[in-house]
This record gives sequence, C-alpha cells and structure tokens, in this order.
Amino acid sequence: MKALWKEIAGRGLALKETPIPRVGDDEALIKVKVASICGTDLHIYVWNDWAKGRIKPPIIAGHEFAGTVVEVGENVRRVKKGDFVSAETHIYCGHCFQCLIGHPEICENLKILGVDINGAFAEYVAVPEKVLWVNSPTIKEEFASIQEPLGNAVDTVLAEDIAGKTVLLTGAGPIGLLGVGVARAFGATKIIVSDLSDYRLDIAKKMGADVVVNAKSVDVKKIVLDETHGHGVDVGLEFSGSAHALNDLLKSVRPGGRVSLLGLFDNSVSIDFNDDVIFKKIRIYGITGRRIFETWNIVSNLLNSGRLDVSPVITHKFPLEEFGKGMELMETQMSGKVLLIP
Ligand SMILES: [Zn+2]
Ligand SMILES: [Zn+2]
Repeated sequence: MKALWKEIAGRGLALKETPIPRVGDDEALIKVKVASICGTDLHIYVWNDWAKGRIKPPIIAGHEFAGTVVEVGENVRRVKKGDFVSAETHIYCGHCFQCLIGHPEICENLKILGVDINGAFAEYVAVPEKVLWVNSPTIKEEFASIQEPLGNAVDTVLAEDIAGKTVLLTGAGPIGLLGVGVARAFGATKIIVSDLSDYRLDIAKKMGADVVVNAKSVDVKKIVLDETHGHGVDVGLEFSGSAHALNDLLKSVRPGGRVSLLGLFDNSVSIDFNDDVIFKKIRIYGITGRRIFETWNIVSNLLNSGRLDVSPVITHKFPLEEFGKGMELMETQMSGKVLLIP
C-alpha cells in the first residue's frame, strides 16, 4: 500500500510503498477513503519544536480519517466488515486512574494515532476497536473525516452553555472555523471572529460569524466593546495559540464570563491574572481531546441532522501523492481543511 512516512528527524514526509498492516486481536483494519490534514500533521511535516520532542521516526502520519472496515481481529465484537468508521485518535489504556474515573481523553498512558503509532495517511490503517466510531452510512465521507477536529470545536464551544450568548472567537484556522459553526448551531446570538488571515475570515462569515476582525489592522477589544454595548462578550473561545490573541480575548470578555482554551501556544505566555481573570471572576477551561464517546454522538448528530454544514471549511482535496501541496496551503494559511485521498 501507499503510505506517508515521517522517515527522518527533519522537514518533510515521504510517500513509500509499505506492507498492509496486520490486524491485532483487538483491532480492525480499515481501508481509508478520506484523510484530513490536521495542524498536528503540519507540525510533524515542518518538524517544529513540539515534533522534535514528541515524534520518533519512522512513523506513518495522519489521524483524521473515514473509511471502511475490511478485516477484524479475533476479539472484535462491536464493529464488523463493511462498517463505515472514523476513530477517536486518543487511544486510552482503560486501566489508569483517569480512565477509571471516566476521563479517558486525559489517560495517563495516552497513545495518539499518527503520533505514537502508525496513522491514517495510507491506504489502510489498523486501529483498536475501542476507539472506532461507526458512522451513519448516509454521512458524506468528506464530512466524516473531520469529526475528530469537529469534536474539539464542540467541546471548546460547549464547555458551558452557549445559547443566547455573545462570543469572541480568536483564531479562524480549521478548528476555529468549525467552532463558529457549532456556536451558531447551538444558538449564540452574536459571534465575533478575529484572525490575521482575510481568507480565513471570509470562511468564518460563511460559517455564521456576525462580525469578522483582522487583528493585524484593528483593536479587537474596541470592536468587541462597540458590538456589546460596552460590556464585553459573555464567552471567549481561543483557537489560535497566539499570546496576543489570548490577551485580546481576556480583555474582551465581560466580568463573570467564560473562556475556553484549545489553541496550543509555542511558549509560556504572560497574562494579567489579577485584572483579567481574578477580579473579573472569569472561568477558564482547558480543552483537549474529546469526551469519548459523548462528544462523538453530538458531532454525528450535528452532521446527520444537517444542523451544521461544514462544507465551507473544506477548501481543498488532493490525492495522497500530492500531500506537499496540501501542507504548503496549510503552512501559508491559505486553506481551511485540506483532505487527502489515498
Ligand atoms: Zn487532528
Ligand atoms: Zn488510561
């Protein structure tokens, strides 16, 4: 089969002919129909500091996908040949303390598909049954392939109630854009989106943003105050991983408001805890992974019902061989979600 390998500790990925993986007793073999490039894959491709510390080449990259089960291991019960599946990418152990108390998404022995074990940028991938999610056969393959990041967006937006709330969302990358759609679908009343890319802000409008702000040229906090009768927004959603955006966000949320943080920062960041958090009584949530499988249920309900149309976020599709084009588009921020077809 064709597979996209991280072969060396340096920039790039290599497309190589590779044996089809053998299925373990607790695994299913999946023929990948569509895979989607995540920010994590881009980090692995460009070989940033995070990748240097975390990835041990050689490994097949990629973790967001949809495909069909072609073979199952001896102990597999829940999925069967022919099922149309996607996967929770956080492969939890099931026996550590966090798993025991119902938080497998922050398992102490977490292994991530395409990061710690061979991933989905390939014609076939072997995945443990326990993380497989069986999709409705009516859902479009392209949409099914982005449920993992959509789940991040759902958990970020829905860490608390969003209905009737005013929102500032910083960072209109693919997950942020999905976040705009989720906030819209769940009844946010005003959604303000900031980013540095006009291309992405245009997509934010299509996803339901009421106001878009290019933070390069305008003062985000001033716009937010103008748009909220001087109060600030009820909810701040941080998807960018920019320290500047985080500070804009904390200063734009009203006292008593809520903030969810998903974007990962390159370095430690400095914020004014006294004035921007404590005296404002702001509640801050760190978000990682997805609730397994509660979030997946919400995600598939959103897609199956048509309540959320993710098509504006999916901007490009390439055969697996042309992965370089997709990575370049992601790097220059001239894309939403980029899909790869093995
Ligand atoms: Zn991802
Ligand atoms: Zn565990």
